Amino acid sequence: SFRALLTEKAEDGTVSSAVQTLEDARLPEGDVTVDIEWAGLNYKDGLCLTGQGGLVRTYPHVAGIDFAGTVRESDDFRYRVGDQVVLTGWRVGEAHWGGYAERARVKADWLVPLPASLTARDAMIMGTAGLTAMLAINRLEWAGLTPSSGEVLVTGAAGGVGSIAVALLRRLGYSVTALSGRPQHADMLRDLGAANIIDRNEFMAQPDKPLETARFAAAIDCVGGAVLGKLLRQIAYGGAVASLGNAAGIKLDTNVLPFLLRGVNLLGIDSVMQPFDARTDAWARLAGLFDFPAYAGNVEEVGLDALPEKAAQILSGEVKGRVLVNPKD
Ligand code: NAP
Repeated sequence: SFRALLTEKAEDGTVSSAVQTLEDARLPEGDVTVDIEWAGLNYKDGLCLTGQGGLVRTYPHVAGIDFAGTVRESDDFRYRVGDQVVLTGWRVGEAHWGGYAERARVKADWLVPLPASLTARDAMIMGTAGLTAMLAINRLEWAGLTPSSGEVLVTGAAGGVGSIAVALLRRLGYSVTALSGRPQHADMLRDLGAANIIDRNEFMAQPDKPLETARFAAAIDCVGGAVLGKLLRQIAYGGAVASLGNAAGIKLDTNVLPFLLRGVNLLGIDSVMQPFDARTDAWARLAGLFDFPAYAGNVEEVGLDALPEKAAQILSGEVKGRVLVNPKD
């Protein structure tokens, strides 16, 4: 048997979660069973734990979109008992039981071998957030971005993806501007490598014009909505924006002039359905770049019991950096 945070939906539609002990027979179908050492908390986990966004269709459910651990049983030739593995995406934690448990059973195709230099805890410090930040930087570089292009803006900077994007960009020699709604985290963002910090309210209070002063060579946008609409009008000639998040909403209210008159490119980033080779490449680059000691102050550890409260916090933009989940706790 194993401990899991089981999320259930009552007849009146209320979604709630509680720690329970389950028999192994309750594990879903799959070819590899993993003993989970660490899971992560992401914005999407907040949605799944509170029954929002239509992501979870079948209850009872075990949430947790990313986890790392050790193979316990394997029917697949690629994985042996004792192998260290990491999982992100593939709708695990949404359509399939995920990481908020001591054990998971998944398809071997969804797993990635843990890079040799990383522990399971290291992998979850980065997690889906780190992988997505890395994919966004890779995509911007394929579009031509180099450190000499100019300033790179990161929005939602104090959150998981944003804070890791700031740290990775700095490590690669970029000049980073962090946009955050939380001035209390300015020191954290400077320590991670942001040269400039913009207060979200001040940014949004600038008068709207069809094209605004071109300030940034590129941007990584974690929030969408009006923030993305505005920053597109401040991207310099030939620049690009990686759009990866919707913490401020799914709407995009802007105009086409940045595309027509400045040749700006809007690049979509998806971490969930990335093929195996793209994942292993991104994990390898991430493992080589990420400065664990420098990020250590932005990591909080919680047990399964604390997750319902943390889910509400991440949805209201109150989580700083990364939250790690210890399923044995
Ligand atoms: P997170 O830790 O909660 O970070 C989101 C950040 O956005 C918050 O820390 C906050 O930063 C800012 N924010 C929150 N509410 C906002 C609002 N109403 N208006 C403007 N800014 C707001 O979440 P995360 O796990 O890093 O994920 C960030 C986003 O990326 C989410 O939308 C998530 O769904 C998405 N995502 C997408 C992929 C993909 O594959 N495309 C993968 C991972 C994540 P400040 O306080 O610093 O402003």
